Amino acid sequence: MMIVIMEKNASIKQIQDILQFVEDSACTPHVSKGDENTVIGIVGDERGLVSDKIQTMSGVEKVIPTQKPYKLASREWKKDNTVIRVNGIEIGGNRITIIAGPCGVESETQLLEIAQIVKDAGAHILRGGAFKPRTSPYSFQGLGERGLELLAKAREKTGLAVITEVVNPSQVELVAQYADILQIGARNSQNFALLQEAGKCNKPVFLKRGMMSNLEEYLMCAEYIMANGNYNVILCERGIRTFETSTRNTMDISAIPMIKSLSHLPVFADPSHATGKRSLVPPVARAAVAAGADGLMIEVHNHPEKALSDGAQAILPEEFFALMQNLKQLSVVVGRSL
Ligand code: PEP
Ligand code: MN
Repeated sequence: MMIVIMEKNASIKQIQDILQFVEDSACTPHVSKGDENTVIGIVGDERGLVSDKIQTMSGVEKVIPTQKPYKLASREWKKDNTVIRVNGIEIGGNRITIIAGPCGVESETQLLEIAQIVKDAGAHILRGGAFKPRTSPYSFQGLGERGLELLAKAREKTGLAVITEVVNPSQVELVAQYADILQIGARNSQNFALLQEAGKCNKPVFLKRGMMSNLEEYLMCAEYIMANGNYNVILCERGIRTFETSTRNTMDISAIPMIKSLSHLPVFADPSHATGKRSLVPPVARAAVAAGADGLMIEVHNHPEKALSDGAQAILPEEFFALMQNLKQLSVVVGRSL
């Protein structure tokens, strides 16, 4: 359904042109003539009908779309929550899923030690970037394919599924050979070529919210992946850009229940990138679970002072253990389990 409001002095010819255009687009127009304006309601699947085109037609004052621009990602299209199965874990089910690990894969010892720590604490999935999208070209860029090999080794040793970021459409296939879940980061969340490529691959995609995307734009990113055939998309709120400078980003807590009402896809939260500060990670993690998050992504490091990226926001092993105990209790309070 779409509503077209004609200008006050729109001519009969201008109105007829709109009606013709709507009928040619296999939709049905309903005309309502007011004292001042004529309003045309359009029913049918007007997604094939370009609202931008109607907006440019002569005599049109305003076009008001009444349907969301995303379909496959919407709650209207699929009522039940999407549950994604990875390595025996049900993502988006009643149980809360914890993804934890270092920001970047730095060495074999570093990754294997942290993998064992997060596994012992009860995490379900190991994270670690092999291709790091860094703000500076002089910062650590990740170990590349060697990093992927180390993730595969950590999976072998711990039994944990692994998630890692892909930053380039040409590397989707390579990353999918190693990872159980592909991550698309905030900076690349509107890289449409990358989204399309990820949509053609058979691994679930963990899509972070762009730091400047509103929820409609964000869900359109998920739609890109789904429209290419991959329905296994996991969403993640990781903080957005605001005027506040005391935290790295501003955690949009209300986005969690809001997205859950708009979409059937699982919704995660990343308190590490949202806050940028170790001390804020546990309280914001708890807030996200209380707000209905299906899971969390948390950066953990055993030697954060030596980390090659994001050391300041990595929580220590003992802090992660304590947080997991906390979340176990909290999950029961919100009718979930961990
Ligand atoms: C990350 O998870 O390592 C990362 C770079 O996060 P984001 O894309 O949210 O900044
Ligand atoms: Mn990071």
